[in-house]
Amino acid sequence: MTPRKLLSDCFRTEGDPMSHGECLAILTGRLSTVTGTEELPLAATSGRWLAADIMAPRNVPLHDNAAVDGYTFAAPASGPMPVVARIAAGDLGRHSLEPGQAARIFTGAAMPEGADTVAMQEDCTVEGDTVSVPSGLRRGDNARRAGEDVAADSTVLHAASRLRPQDMAALASFGLARVKVRAPVRVAILSNGDELLEPGAEISQGQVYDSNRAMLRALTATLPCEITDLGILPDNAALIEATLAEVAKSHDVILTSGGASHGDEDHIVNAVDRLGTRHLWQMAIKPGRSMSFGQIGDCVFLGLPGNPVAAFVCFLLYVRPALTVLGGGSYREPVRFPVAAGFEVRDKKPGRREFWRGSLETGADGRPVAHKFARDGSGLISGLREATGLIEVTEATTTVERGDLVSFLPFTGFGIDG
Ligand code: AMP
Ligand code: MG
Repeated sequence: MTPRKLLSDCFRTEGDPMSHGECLAILTGRLSTVTGTEELPLAATSGRWLAADIMAPRNVPLHDNAAVDGYTFAAPASGPMPVVARIAAGDLGRHSLEPGQAARIFTGAAMPEGADTVAMQEDCTVEGDTVSVPSGLRRGDNARRAGEDVAADSTVLHAASRLRPQDMAALASFGLARVKVRAPVRVAILSNGDELLEPGAEISQGQVYDSNRAMLRALTATLPCEITDLGILPDNAALIEATLAEVAKSHDVILTSGGASHGDEDHIVNAVDRLGTRHLWQMAIKPGRSMSFGQIGDCVFLGLPGNPVAAFVCFLLYVRPALTVLGGGSYREPVRFPVAAGFEVRDKKPGRREFWRGSLETGADGRPVAHKFARDGSGLISGLREATGLIEVTEATTTVERGDLVSFLPFTGFGIDG
């Protein structure tokens, strides 16, 4: 059984909306890993969270070897040397040279005993059975040393790090065929609202296609998760309650959008309140004020607002860190880049942190300039599409002048490529 430690205490009741910093600290500091471990073939582990530190079992490379095609010898060379061996990559023989001898060698071939340097074939003069190498080669030139990439027994990859393509190369270079990783987080995703319609269906007045679910599935898939798509739930309190109660038994996370405020028609949060506990709600941010977080039994509830922009931003800011920690990953805040504003804003409300849809352009002086999507509406998917990142504006800020430095968070820092 996987140990499950969720938040059992309710640390927020009434009062002011919760700040972004506080919310993030709770999600990353008080949630813990819920996933078990599994040992998989190397190729199946790409993108997973590593479950244990990995040490190099031996030197990489294992032996000194040639970095170029040419002639190997012990530096310094004086005069022509007899060529006494020919060593190609993959040659398993043990060769050795006497002082003053050389061997023909090819890239990747193990250097013979007694040699320490390789001269590039283009620079060598071959006459009969001898070779002359250029003067001025230093000992070790064009040779790769055993262990120069990774020394035996050094810890190279750390538990809770994400396996990237270059890590695949490293693990393979250690000769590892199987790797212990974290199992995926089991995430159930649903949309809520009587107005929502499945794409492909005939639309009528008063309806909108469910755009959040396709987006949230794609966002969730940027992390190691196993997704259950629960489709659209209508605004029916009994049905929602029964569904959430059932789904919570077999999932680590329930991720919803819509029905997130605390009104008569906000059935999702009302159901969570009846079935479990909500730990936080009402955020001092824009968009995403009605984001909430809680649990039903051992299942984490992450309730996103229905507006697509708010759902998107809240996923990046809160769901991503939560899924990381629950999945056994170590969460790192994306890097913020200070960039000159190419716009002005005179009427930001103080007291809440705002995340504007932005993009970068190279300015006249060669430095990047941030542009802000002109329209603010949190239903506008076009702004999300035009954007390449978020502009983060602090609680205290009320105005931004053209040229002021603003904080830019590229979407790539949230795992969204392209
Ligand atoms: P709610 O959070 O349920 O009050 O919804 C806020 C707004 O978001 C309403 O205009 C909804 O129609 C819209 N909305 C809710 N869920 C979705 C969804 N899955 N796809 C697109 N729009 C949605
Ligand atoms: Mg609704």
